[in-house]
Amino acid sequence: MADDWRSISPGDTRPLPCLLPPAYAQLIRDAEEPEAQALRRQVLPSDDEASFSAGESSDPLGEARYLVTPHLVHQYSNRVLVLTTGACLGYCRYCFRKSFTARTEGFIEAEEREKICAYLKKTPNVQEILISGGDPLTVPPDELFEFLNAIRHARPDILIRLCTRGPVFAPELFTKEFIARLRSLRPLWVIPHINHPAELGPAQIACFTALSEAGIPQQSQTVLLRGVNDIPETLACLFHRLVCLGVKPGYLFQCDLAPGTAGFRVPLQDGLRIWNRLRELLSGLSLPQYAVDLPGGGGKFPLSVPALSDRIDCLDTVSGLSVRGSDGKVYTYPPN
Ligand SMILES: *Cc1c(COP(=O)(O)O)cnc(C)c1O
Repeated sequence: MADDWRSISPGDTRPLPCLLPPAYAQLIRDAEEPEAQALRRQVLPSDDEASFSAGESSDPLGEARYLVTPHLVHQYSNRVLVLTTGACLGYCRYCFRKSFTARTEGFIEAEEREKICAYLKKTPNVQEILISGGDPLTVPPDELFEFLNAIRHARPDILIRLCTRGPVFAPELFTKEFIARLRSLRPLWVIPHINHPAELGPAQIACFTALSEAGIPQQSQTVLLRGVNDIPETLACLFHRLVCLGVKPGYLFQCDLAPGTAGFRVPLQDGLRIWNRLRELLSGLSLPQYAVDLPGGGGKFPLSVPALSDRIDCLDTVSGLSVRGSDGKVYTYPPN
């Protein structure tokens, strides 16, 4: 396989290209300050990207350890992730796969796609497949659907998760026909990446609404980013609006240690404070999990728990759990 991700030098720190999708440029034009700046900051290069910090890595999630084909990551027992292409609709400057993204442009080869289907067939405990990248929506629809249909054929039961920035960067791709083709592949969820309420312009709202109306469930992912969305009220606004559109906020991710992204990282303690405040501002339905991908391949770790730990007075097998409620009083749940 020519485009083996592992063959790319781990020190590949060439800057990401700059690509501004037209729909996102429109959002920037329509936004006022400081929202416009929160959008520009995500897609326009800055000098900070050339400065690397301690702990940063070209593979911050340690995904290379879990590859079963050059682009299939099997880290968690019941779900796998495919890096379908390195190409994106636009290049997010904080990208955690920036050493892979934009390095390999095309769709993974047919030979590997067949291997992936064969792997799914012989590994029935895999219940979900994440179609990721890069952005799978850069793949020409006929090729993308040929692969998705092959997956569906190999595994009629598997849940397909389409992980994409498409609804924000290129909502025009979600035509009636495209949505109907997605619908034919059910069970399928769309997992949109969205970071700011100003990313919900008329075209984006129409896209989320069309997916909801077609009965395609959606769960969002958001990255906590300094100077973009590190204000609880901003995030609360985003999550509430998403729920109103039929999109369940799934994850709020701590920013990963990709090279040259220090300027985007919110210190953990601040992140925990932000999430704690979000709990007060939002319903359970609107609140995503706050999580960090442990560097080096440790997997996702929920930070929502430590965010609450300062409210725990006591937790042991004798006294049970004593916690301060939102009224400041201590409440106890017995050990058994
Ligand atoms: C995040 C991730 C998944 C999916 O995990 P969920 O907690 O189900 O969202 C699967 N595989 C890999 C490699 C991942 O990084």
